[in-house]
Amino acid sequence: MKIVAVVGAKNTGKTTLVTRIIRELVKRGFTVGTVKHSHHSFDMSDRDTGKHKKAGAEIVAGTGEETFFTIKGDMKLDNVLGMMNFIKNLDFIILEGFKSSKYAKISTSDFKDDFTIANMNVFEMDDSSLKTLVDLLDERSYGMIKYLNCKKCGFDSCDDFVDGKIKGNTNATLCKSESDEVLLKIDNQMIPLNPFVRNFVKEIIQGMVKSLKTDEFGVNDFEKIELLIRDDHDRH
Ligand code: SF4
Repeated sequence: MKIVAVVGAKNTGKTTLVTRIIRELVKRGFTVGTVKHSHHSFDMSDRDTGKHKKAGAEIVAGTGEETFFTIKGDMKLDNVLGMMNFIKNLDFIILEGFKSSKYAKISTSDFKDDFTIANMNVFEMDDSSLKTLVDLLDERSYGMIKYLNCKKCGFDSCDDFVDGKIKGNTNATLCKSESDEVLLKIDNQMIPLNPFVRNFVKEIIQGMVKSLKTDEFGVNDFEKIELLIRDDHDRH
């Protein structure tokens, strides 16, 4: 999973650029997800689910032909990304906003920081420039970094890996410690696991589940196991 943020001043075509990038990536056969940053709540007032939300529900889900969730309060971006990737394996996630994130950025204005790979004037961008831009973001973007400084990518630190990707100095693709096989979240904070712990947890839990008579509950095989552990001290 690679992540790209489209940032820039107001009314400079961020949403237009995000939609054009999505179309081009989908045309190339990639699966794409998006995350939009908003300071306002998402307007659902004319829907039943909006009424649930207004009445005070903490989480509202709608399911049918499509499924969506709205959760009260701000969630950390990395937690959102981790959950999205856990629900659906995606090739790319495009962020709209998130100026201070540490992912590869395309700016639609003169904003520039150490993670910016291109500044674009969206209103003058033709199809050929869009294709060049998508080639560039495919080459320079990267996924979630575990910040373990494990050197498996060939760089001395995670910061050096990110710098190498942004500047186009490496053919390395993703953080070698990235894995979506096992995710650990403690009190809403995603915790990175090194490969040893990840495999250890995976084997122990899988072994335990296999020893249970899950077929009595109609579960003969599984794609994903979810386990929630509560600290008794927190319970009233
Ligand atoms: S493989 Fe990932 S966690 Fe390890 S140093 Fe490289 S970027 Fe950091």
